[in-house]
Order: sequence, then structure tokens, then C-alpha cells
Amino acid sequence: MKFEELNIDERILKAVEDLGYEEASPIQARAIPACLEGKDVIGQAQTGTGKTAAFSIPALMKVDPEVKKLQVVILSPTRELAVQVSGEIRKLAKYMSDVKVLPVYGGQDIVRQIKALKSGVQIMVGTPGRVMDHMRRKTVKFDDVSMVILDEADEMLDMGFREDIETILSETTENRQTVLFSATMPKPIVEIAEKFQHDTEHIKVVKKELTVENIEQYYYEVKARNKNELLCRLVDIYNPKLAVVFCNTKRAVDELISELKGRGYFADGIHGDMKQAQRDRVMDDFRNGRCEILIATDVAARGIDVSNVDMVFNYDLPQDDEYYVHRIGRTGRAGKSGLALSFVSGKEAYKLKDIERYCKTKIKNRPLPSMDDVKNTKIDNLFAKIKDTIEEGGLSEIRELVEERIELEDYTSIDAVAALIKMTIGDINTEHDELEVVHYDASQKREGMVRLFINIGKKDKVTPANILGAIAGESGIPGKYVGAIDMLDNYTFVEVPEAIADDVLKAMEDVTIKGRSIVMEKASGRGKKRHRSKGGDSHGFRSFTDKKDGFRKGSDSKDSDKKSFSRRSDKSKDKSSAFKKDKSFDFKKDKKDKKKKPSMKALWGK
Ligand code: ADP
Ligand code: MG
Repeated sequence: MKFEELNIDERILKAVEDLGYEEASPIQARAIPACLEGKDVIGQAQTGTGKTAAFSIPALMKVDPEVKKLQVVILSPTRELAVQVSGEIRKLAKYMSDVKVLPVYGGQDIVRQIKALKSGVQIMVGTPGRVMDHMRRKTVKFDDVSMVILDEADEMLDMGFREDIETILSETTENRQTVLFSATMPKPIVEIAEKFQHDTEHIKVVKKELTVENIEQYYYEVKARNKNELLCRLVDIYNPKLAVVFCNTKRAVDELISELKGRGYFADGIHGDMKQAQRDRVMDDFRNGRCEILIATDVAARGIDVSNVDMVFNYDLPQDDEYYVHRIGRTGRAGKSGLALSFVSGKEAYKLKDIERYCKTKIKNRPLPSMDDVKNTKIDNLFAKIKDTIEEGGLSEIRELVEERIELEDYTSIDAVAALIKMTIGDINTEHDELEVVHYDASQKREGMVRLFINIGKKDKVTPANILGAIAGESGIPGKYVGAIDMLDNYTFVEVPEAIADDVLKAMEDVTIKGRSIVMEKASGRGKKRHRSKGGDSHGFRSFTDKKDGFRKGSDSKDSDKKSFSRRSDKSKDKSSAFKKDKSFDFKKDKKDKKKKPSMKALWGK
């Protein structure tokens, strides 16, 4: 739908035009008319679908520019978002010089804020805490507030702002318009909506309209210790202008920042424990291209909009399927195509299956790139650049110099080009480069452990703790000897030491877990398959490298990083053998005592 069809102010239309938006996104097309009608609205759509403009445009339409009083309050979970949203509103209000917008957030000098507010701000965008602060101090009158908007409502509730939000809503006039935008609709949001909205129009943009569709998605099976090396190779190959790398923990973010910086990349990161000023600086650097690789946790990155992210890496697969969508939604925004590469290591193979099911997409496997691939791509890129430079022309003077020079020297022009290339891309050691490939599939198990299948899963509302409890309780083996529990929707895999698998199976016959009688059996399947990467095909890389122009500054320190290649023995593997050596673990003896469970437990020392 065209913006022109939405009955919005000419000046906003012009601003939208300047922003380069061709069409209203689905959530905009539906939410803007509903808001303009004065209805209370719930707008539910995924990240990156244009929710900001969906409420900002009606907000601007609602404001009476003649009235120099606060009229619209927009609540936002974080300072970054508040700043971002008010920035977007300012852009949309480019031709409405009589509308004043102000972001307010904690940490900012309140005296200055109060001064700014007194100058006739009509739209306030702020974090709930700070907005309430102003309400309490009566630094600005809320009497004329006719519209309250909750942006990223789910996130605000997650962050514990519920009480503040409710206070703000109850202390503004009851006939205000209440608009709520959220990617998800957990119960507390429904409750707030029921309590504070009237005659609500719930607009939900279904998944089909998600941007995930124009995002190419691939995964790499990689050993956890090789993830850094893989990331660097992929960055070298694709040479993204802006990439976001998602990790699951703050620690992983910190470690990866120093690793990548150490290797000469323009990388930086954000996570919840960082000082606000530091986060702001990083985000600024990222927007201005001073930082090319942003490493982030889900919470820190949520809702932050940076356009032109050409790649998203899932360094770790997200814990929550839905986060996968949020994460990869950073790339391929607004009709552009994007690329999402996920690293899958060990148990994450199951997670990947869940994610595929959740997103109803197929995430394709890619072979690990070899150093040869890296080298070849760098050379390809360089030649593409050479070609461009030749086409640009203006080389005749230098050509003459080169010709003269080559005459004098005892090397050929080919030697010279080869040397220049080497100087540019650096030495790439392709000898000890191969990343160790492991195939993770549903039948994978750890040595000394056996996988057991149980016919109940997440859908049956059981938790890993229930399963662990049942096994420990029924068979008498201490919980610590039970290995990984991989829970899928309809069934679960549990690892137990091979030596006691039969005993566990016996003990679990006729057992019920959470009221369900279960069937437990040995999981069928092969063991671990190992083979070495023969430098996968570089096919498919080209489409992305084509449009890249530059070469990474100072990133040639690719001495194939010894550290990440040393073959450390996998500690988890040794667990079971240590376990077998454990004297107290005598299965033969246990078997004889089978009937006397309590004494068996005594044997375990617990
Ligand atoms: P959300 O809040 O749903 O996560 P945003 O409002 O942050 O999404 O918008 C995501 C990106 O899409 C922003 O860069 C924004 O400028 C851009 N955008 C929004 N609406 C449109 C549109 N109609 N056409 C093109 N780009 C748009
Ligand atoms: Mg948003």
C-alpha cells in the first residue's frame, strides 16, 4: 500500500519520500488508519517491520502544533531506543518545524531535561522510569496527554517496568488513546491492554510477512573451539560492511571482542553489563562505520535499528527459537536481501531443528571454508577492484612509469602484480588450515555414553528436571551421572553411561512422568562421523563478494592462529572414562542388589 492512500499530512508524506520508503509496510498499512480513527490499537509484528513509523506518523497527526504542551508520551525500554525513536520522529517531522520532540532517559542531566521540557515539547519519548520521574516531580504537565504509546511493550515488561507503565497509564486522562506495539504478546501485556485500553483493535501481522523470507540462511557445523577462526574466515570471505554477531552470554561477547580486535578487525560489542556511555559510543561507531562487526547479546541488541546490516552471525544459536527471528531480522530489512550464518556445535544441532520447525524454513548446511577459499576470495576481490580501477581510467601516467621501470628491472610485470597482491592480502598460510569437521546429527552421542529415547517432550509440559528426577528416582543413579538431556517437542533424548543403560531402561519400565506413562528405549543411530574438510566449495560466496569494494584494513595477520588449532583433548570426552575408573561405580554389584534400591543409593554415597 502507498503512503498516499493513508490520509496523512502532506508534510509527513514528503518526509517519508525523503526517507526513501516506497510503500507502507503491512503493519504500517493497517495500524496507521486504525490509529488515525482514534482507536486503541495493539500492533503486533516482528522486529524490523517498521513499527516505529506505524505509531510515529499517527502521533505526529495527533499533535496540535499550536498547543505548546505535552500531548503524546511514548514509552521505550531503553535509552538507545528512546533516542532512536525520537530521531525517527524528527525525520518524519522534518517539514513540521512547529512540532517538538524530546527523548528523556535516566542518566541524562535532569535539570537540562526539565529546561528542555519547559520549552514546549509536545512529544516525549522516554524510558518508563524517567517519564514517571518527571510525572512525580511535576516538571511537566501530563493533563493534555491525549495519546500514550508503548513501544516494544514485551521488552519493557521483561525489564521490570510494569509498575511504572501502569502508574503512567493510570495517571493520564482516561480518554487518552492508548497504543501498544510489541513483537510478542505474553500474558502481562494482554492484561495491561485489557486494563487500560477500550474498544481495542488488535492488529497482528502474521509470520508470512516476516522479512526472514528474503534472508539466505546457512549453518556451519563447527567445533566450539574453532568458532573464532571460522568467524574470521567468513568475515574475510564475505567482507561485510556491517555485520552483527550474536552470542548467548556477556562473557562470550567480551571474549570475542578482544579476540577480533586482537586479529585486527574493526569489531566492538555491547551487552547489558556495559556502562551506558560505552554502549552509546559503540553504537555510534557502528552506525558511522568505524566499527564493522558488532558483537552483541540478544538483550543488548534488541530493538536497536541499524540499517544496512548485510550479515548476521549466530555465533551461538539462540536459546529461544523466537530470538532467531529477531536476530536475523537485523539483516535483509525493508526488502533488501540479507544473509544469516549460524554456527552449530554439539548439542546445538537439535536446536537448529527446532528453529527450522519454528520458522518453517530450511537452513542449509555449508562446508567450512578453507584457507584456500579465503585466499581465493581475497584475490578475486582484489582483481574485481583492479578491474574497476582500470575502467575508471586515468592510469596513463602511472602506466608510463611502470613501463619504464619494468624495462630497467629484471622482473616481469606479472611478478610485480603478484608481489603487489601478496603485499595487499598478506601471507595466507594454507598448509595447516583445515578446520576439523564434525557432523552433528540426531544420533550423536558422547563416548562411553548411550542415548536413550523417551516418547515425551516439551509439548507434554515436562521439563528436563522432571526427566532427570524420574530417572534418578526410579533407577537410583545420582543425577550427576545422567548426561545431556535434549528435549524436543514430542520426545526427549537422555544420555546415560553405557554400562548402566540397561538398568535404567529396566527401572523405567511402567514408570509415569507427570502422569504420562512413558516408553523409553535405546535411541537408534550411528555414532560420531568425522571427516576432514577438503576446503568446501566457494560457490555461492561470489554473489556476496561481488558488491564489496574495500579490503579489510590491517586484517592480514592470519597466521592461522596457532591457538585455535592446537588439538586440545576434549574434556567432556574423558568424563566417562574417569567415571568408569571410579571404584564406587560397580555395576555388576549393583545388578545383584537390584531389588534393594535404598542400599544402592547408599552405595552412591547419597
Ligand atoms: P521495528 O520497530 O518493527 O523493529 P523499525 O521501525 O525499527 O522496525 O524499522 C526497521 C527499518 O525499516 C528502519 O530502518 C526503518 O527506517 C525502515 N522502514 C520502516 N518503514 C519502512 C518502509 N515503509 N519502507 C522502507 N523502509 C522502512
Ligand atoms: Mg521497534
